[in-house]
Parts: sequence; structure tokens; C-alpha cells
Amino acid sequence: MRVSLIVGLVATTWWLAGSMPRAQAPAADLVLTNGRIITVNATDSIAQAVAIAGSRIVAVGTNDEMRSRIGPATRVIDLAGRTATPGLIDTHVHFSETDALFSVDLGDVAVKNMSDVLARVAAQVAKRKPGEWIRGRGWDEGKLAERRYIHASDLDKVAPDNPVWLTHTTGHYGVANSYALKMAEVRKETTDPPAGTIDRDAAGNPTGVLKEAAQGLVTRLVPPFTRDEQRQGLVRMIEDFNKEGMTGAKDPGIGQQKWELYQELRDAGTLTVRMVALWSGARRVEDNAQVMARVQAHPRPSDLSADRVLISGGVKMFMDGSGGARTAWMYGDWNKNFTEKDTGNVGYPATPPDAYRQIVATLHNAGIHVSTHAIGDRAIDWVVDTYDHVLKAKPARGLRHGIIHGNTPSNHAIDVMARLQAEYDAGYPESQAGFMWWIGDNYAGNLGPERGLRLKPFNTYVQRKIKWAGGSDYGVTPFPARYGLWSSVARQTLNGTFGATPFGLQERVDIRTALRSYTIWAAHQMFLDDRIGSIEVGKDADLAVWDRDMYTVPTDALKELRCEMTIFSGKVVYTTR
Ligand SMILES: [Zn+2]
Repeated sequence: MRVSLIVGLVATTWWLAGSMPRAQAPAADLVLTNGRIITVNATDSIAQAVAIAGSRIVAVGTNDEMRSRIGPATRVIDLAGRTATPGLIDTHVHFSETDALFSVDLGDVAVKNMSDVLARVAAQVAKRKPGEWIRGRGWDEGKLAERRYIHASDLDKVAPDNPVWLTHTTGHYGVANSYALKMAEVRKETTDPPAGTIDRDAAGNPTGVLKEAAQGLVTRLVPPFTRDEQRQGLVRMIEDFNKEGMTGAKDPGIGQQKWELYQELRDAGTLTVRMVALWSGARRVEDNAQVMARVQAHPRPSDLSADRVLISGGVKMFMDGSGGARTAWMYGDWNKNFTEKDTGNVGYPATPPDAYRQIVATLHNAGIHVSTHAIGDRAIDWVVDTYDHVLKAKPARGLRHGIIHGNTPSNHAIDVMARLQAEYDAGYPESQAGFMWWIGDNYAGNLGPERGLRLKPFNTYVQRKIKWAGGSDYGVTPFPARYGLWSSVARQTLNGTFGATPFGLQERVDIRTALRSYTIWAAHQMFLDDRIGSIEVGKDADLAVWDRDMYTVPTDALKELRCEMTIFSGKVVYTTR
């Protein structure tokens, strides 16, 4: 503790020296010159050069202004006109590639129909002994030519002697084969568990698809990944984040084991992505005390003494389910196939609403940041009204309670968000523009033509001065933030099943605004906006260098942005040269 305090003091005095007359400015360790530095400061000014000493930015300005910072030991990188931005931040990412490394990957665009799915499962079966589990993830019926769920009967053809569980790309549903259903004792007579759905055919027989809490009937039987597999998944994810110019993440819903892995990597100096972790919240009032004890064992994210690399951020709660599974809690019936109605299905809450409100009140009163998964308009209303309620009862600024996903907020929800942000620094959407692209065809079918226009209403947010924080929700969508930047501007689906832009263009924003949502506004939801998210003197030096200028390229080119260098805390952690 004492050591880090002293280091902190030295660093502070040292960068304050940066504002002294130029002749006395100490030499920097690293200077980037000849660039187009998109600073994302208050006026979004463009600089030419930036100087870094230790982990901090000590000067931002012209090439000339940097000259006094260059000493004999300074490393100078000539950007040769290339663009730099603050390191990009993902405020909602299930941060691990363990699944991608160790299970059947059904989430790439080469999986176009049922036989592609079955071929990949069959390839895995060939490597396993009878009785061994086959697991996979990433499928999406919205991307399959057949436009229907995978069923147990499909999987049985290639895996009669192994249990199979394939998680949907949203993580809110999955499919088991008959072998696995038998192990789980899921049959015609089995009733739906609370907040879960066993999908059934016309005769009432389980199809193999299990939604929300019903997934647990099978997933509790699937052996967990080993600690080493989990560690490998984190290491790969950190590397891949850095390759995409990404230097910050908020990981929702972790447990003790993942926290320990993060600690281990942080202590080894290999956690080159700033991490704010949210602990998995309770779904029953009686389980909340245990969650609180976990959170309270760590400093609050706003504490000055808190680590700036690994931060215990607060608690993640669930209000409802998925827009892919049509389980999210809506006011009106879900659609299907765009114009048809899924009559009688308005989804359901994932946590009993009164229990949710009680748990959030307890967390809020203890000064704990809460972020809640809310997809459906009714779920979002309940969440923002809950925040409003607890903030009125116990006013506090700066807890920054979040609305995760916030897909189709009502006008009421938008009003409340605007007010909570202004009055309490709370009520921030943590939103994933990439949903419109990667699962957009599925979403368009389920939301229908009118409701779809309200999906991710970023332009309305801008009009109402509502800030939001960008993210990917990986493994729901691919994590590179360039996709989210592009989606915020383009609002196009992957396959154009119901037209290229079924969500309209009314709610698009420009790239400058989109970039704020993946930098400074995202930093705010990580409690690090005074430390990262813009290129300004005194901030931690997290930067990315790109092969093109995102402010001037055509919209389509945003998707193909290529990161050429990533700097984390003043160190080059990735470079193509
Ligand atoms: Zn998520």
C-alpha cells in the first residue's frame, strides 16, 4: 500500500511538471509524431503528436510542440499520417475465448444451413469417445437457410451416442440432443421451470430447445472447463482485444474463480486490458447478502486507491431474457417472421419484479453500482423506474446504474434516463450497436416492422442528451469494436432477410458520436473517465493507431478498420510492424 502511494505521488508531481515552462519539460519515453490524433476531448480536437512518459500522456499538440519532449532515450514513432484514437472500450463483453477454443464454433458466417451445423458437430463426435460431451455455441436460426431452430432430432442423426449441448449465440437458449435430454430427464411430462421454457412440438414433446432458466436442466450436467482452459481463454481474449485496438472492458456477471484468474494475470503484468468486473447478482432476495459480501470485500470503483487495471465494479442483475428467443419482457406480443404475431407471447421477467426492486434498493443503499440486463420495453421501464425509485428514496450522485442492452426503450424510459443522468449521474444504457447487424435478421423478424424502428434509438439519445456506452456482448456478437462503430452509423443487418435496414436510418448517428460511445462515454461506465477514454494530458496512455482515418472514410470502410498499433499504459502491446 505504502509503496504504491509513494509511486502515485511521484507520478503526479511528475506529470504536473508538464505544465511548467517548456525548457523544463522532462523528456518523454515515447512520442508519436506526424499523426492525425483524434483526441475525443470536449471539443473533439485533432492533434498532430502526443508524448507519453511512463504510463501517462504528458503532452498533446503539434510536432513542434513535442520537440522539447524528445531526449536521447525517447522512442519516436512517426505515424506517417496515420490516425490514432483513444484505446477502444467494450462495456459489455463476456470476456473469454474458452468456448471458442474448446467447443464447436457455430458462430461464423460459413455456417449457412442445417447441414453445415451437423457437419461441424459430426467432426467433433469423430474425435470423442461414446458418452463424452459435445458442446458448441454461436448458432442463430436467423442465419440458417431453413430459418428454424436446430432440434434434437437433427442432432441425433450425427450424435446418437454422445450427449450434445449447443448454446445459441445470445446465450439465452440452446439445444440438446435426445441423449442429453434423456440424461437430464426432460420428457413430455416435465413442466417448465420458473422463468424458463421447454420448447415443444405440436404433440407436446420437447424439441430439444431449452430457453432461459430451462437451460439449466441440461447445462448443470455439462462438465465445466478446467481452470487452465479458462485461463487460456482469457489470455487469448486479451491478445485479440489488443489486436483490435481495444484496451478496456466491463465483464458482466463474474464469480470468484474468474476474479482470481484476472488477479493472477494482473499480478503477472499480462492484463493489458483494463477490466471492470460486475459480480453475478442474485435472483432471489435471500441470496443477495452473499453477493453483497463479495462486493464489499473490494474497494469501490470510485475509491482513489482502487487499482486502475482490475476493478470490482458492482453487481449485474437480470430483468428479462432475450430478443432472439422472444423471452424478453414486452408490453405487446412478440412478432415472428417480421409481420406475423407470436400471439400471447409477451415474454417474462427473469427475476420476480418485486424481488428485483428489493435487491436493487439494498445494493443502492449500500452505495453499490448496479447494471441490469433489460431487453424488452416493459423490462426497461421496470428497471429505470426502479432506479428512479431508489434514487429518490436515497439520493446519491455517481453510482452510474446502468441499463444493459436497453434495446427498445419506451418514451417513458427515455424521459427517465434523461432525468436520472442529469440529476443523479445514473441511468446509462450500456448498448450493443452490433445487435442490429449480427443478430439483426433474427431481431427484425421478432420485433416486426414498427417496433424495430425503435431498436437502439441512438439519435433520440443524442437529442435528449442521454449518453450511452458501447459494447459487443461477445459471444453474442463478434467483439471488435469497429463493428459496433459501423453498426451505429449503418444500422444494417448481416443478411438483409427483411431488407437491408429493417430498423430504419432515423436513429443512426455519425462516426464521431459512435466513437464517443466506445471511448469517453464507455470510460464513464467503467468509472475511469478521468483516467482514460480521451487523449488528454494526465490521462493513462491507452491508444490505438489505425490504417485509415475513421472520420473521413466511407461508412462501409469502418467495418474493415485495421488496427496497426495498440498502446496500453504507455507500452506498445501490439504492432503490425
Ligand atoms: Zn451479456
